[in-house]
Amino acid sequence: MNPYTGPDPVLVGLLARYCAGEVSLETAATEWARIYMESTRRLQFELRRSLTSRNGDAASSEGEGGVTRNITEPDLPKVRALFERVEAKLDLMRSELIEESAREYLSSAGNSPFDKAVRLLANDVTETLGDRHLPVVWSFAAHVRQLELEDPSTRCIEDVQQHFQDTFVDTTWPACPRHPNHPLDYAEGSWRCPRDGAVVARLGELSRHPGNRI
Ligand SMILES: [Zn+2]
Repeated sequence: MNPYTGPDPVLVGLLARYCAGEVSLETAATEWARIYMESTRRLQFELRRSLTSRNGDAASSEGEGGVTRNITEPDLPKVRALFERVEAKLDLMRSELIEESAREYLSSAGNSPFDKAVRLLANDVTETLGDRHLPVVWSFAAHVRQLELEDPSTRCIEDVQQHFQDTFVDTTWPACPRHPNHPLDYAEGSWRCPRDGAVVARLGELSRHPGNRI
């Protein structure tokens, strides 16, 4: 009743746009994750709906019952446990991937301007968020290093910023010491307040408790 109809055309289209350079790695990955989460949630929703409408046999002719026909109310805790376990697996896989590319970057990091900028960024992350977040910095560095960019340092810093914000590690990282509700922008070696462009700190010199808070 629910035949395999081939790869999701939306995902295939996204992959094609990514390969054609129309969307960035970060955008494609975010979109991919969103589609995945949405389809999981839709399945949960359908399941709940089909269970509540099954009191009386009328609902079974709706057509979508094929997916959930053999699942009953007492199965719900099992279903919930499965989804939770899947999310835990995804978390684990993600941190393993991060660790792996971090190791790859560190094994060959040198003294290029890019590597120096990555070390300064690592200082800032350690100082503000703690060193357990360092593998994220190195894994983005591993990725950015493979791209032929004019300014790989800025890209790496922006990707790391985006990651901490998207994953709710800190949605305003790094927070402006003068206006804690917005993050600082990075440009030309410094962290700047986006409101007036004032330099708040050089890259690598962020501190957890800035003295110039007003
Ligand atoms: Zn500000």
